[in-house]
Amino acid sequence: MNPLQTFYCDFHIHVGRALGKPVKMAAAPSLTFEALCAHARTEKGLDIVTVIDGVCTGVLAEVRDLAARGTLAPLADGGGLRHENGLTIFLGAEVECAGPHGGAAHFGCWFGDIDAAADFSAWLATVQKNPSLSSQRARTDAFDLQRQTHQRHGLFIVHHAFTPHKGLYGACVRRLGDMVDPAHVDALELGLSADTDMADCVSELAAQTFLSNSDAHSLPKIAREYNALMLEAPTFAEVGLALWRTGGRRVAANYGLPPSLGKYHRTYCLDCGRLWAAGAAACACGSQRKVNGVYDRFLEIRDHAFPVSPSHRPPYVHQIPLEFIPGLGPAARQRLLAAFGTEMNVLHRADAAALAEVVGPTLAARIDDARAGRVLLQTGGGGIYGKVQFK
Ligand SMILES: [Zn+2]
Ligand SMILES: [Zn+2]
Repeated sequence: MNPLQTFYCDFHIHVGRALGKPVKMAAAPSLTFEALCAHARTEKGLDIVTVIDGVCTGVLAEVRDLAARGTLAPLADGGGLRHENGLTIFLGAEVECAGPHGGAAHFGCWFGDIDAAADFSAWLATVQKNPSLSSQRARTDAFDLQRQTHQRHGLFIVHHAFTPHKGLYGACVRRLGDMVDPAHVDALELGLSADTDMADCVSELAAQTFLSNSDAHSLPKIAREYNALMLEAPTFAEVGLALWRTGGRRVAANYGLPPSLGKYHRTYCLDCGRLWAAGAAACACGSQRKVNGVYDRFLEIRDHAFPVSPSHRPPYVHQIPLEFIPGLGPAARQRLLAAFGTEMNVLHRADAAALAEVVGPTLAARIDDARAGRVLLQTGGGGIYGKVQFK
């Protein structure tokens, strides 16, 4: 057995365009498969990604072409595709299913090889209107989606579980088993406005493995949340073992935004933007139009008043990506990348003195305060991210 090593992974990255046509409508056109692979590896320092639109027909065609040219090579031992830049890639789908009592939720289905992804894509075409587009509604339920994924040796993930926009708990049901088979959920993604302490107030989640992924719709957002996994090698089989905490493989840490920075953390008034008083029928301004918050929904479904974390639960490290740091523009960012290689190195490995040599004492202190949690957070909601304030 090889020694276990740490690998940094973001398992939820969208694609804006493939073959010149839109894939994820809300995603940036510059977010192509190739740009994604380059940015994830060389700027962010990731080891493994799931391209969550990898089974969309245009993306799959580009992947086949890159494989034919040798830019992508299948990992015969364990699955996954290896880019020539060293990044391991899984091909995924984000699929929307209707909830049993209304609403709808997103799920992630990941595959380790092109044939399995293509076979899943062919099945999706029988239940979706347009298989070239991401995150489309499937004319089937999530139980079936889960079975179809596992029949093709894929991994099945509950996406952004608590968000009011297309999250299983946030938009559909109070119990996991009302929508999927909990014993065959490979992992649950916390989403940007939630963290482990929140999810561990829901007792039925004790056995689940949590993931923190970026759900990036543009290049800069890649790895704003990510996971550290302990694996023998960066392959699909090893990641599967880690999600089931087998043979020492595991998720060793989740890295994510403080939940209050998430843009759907609290319920907000759509008209005046003020925080919505819990249980109120209308806002103080008279408006009845609101955007439900993740935290407010969480208060409805939790059954522990305080988090009760099982012994297998890894730490959740709150981190503030460089893009949230006021005054840190593109020029300073480029100097940091030139000096330290990747954003991972800036956030985790560079010490304050080294940072100060590159960007000066003020910005260096802000980066250091942000990663040590010495900041004030202004809560997000209603589709607007929270803000970081420095003392
Ligand atoms: Zn989604
Ligand atoms: Zn209002």
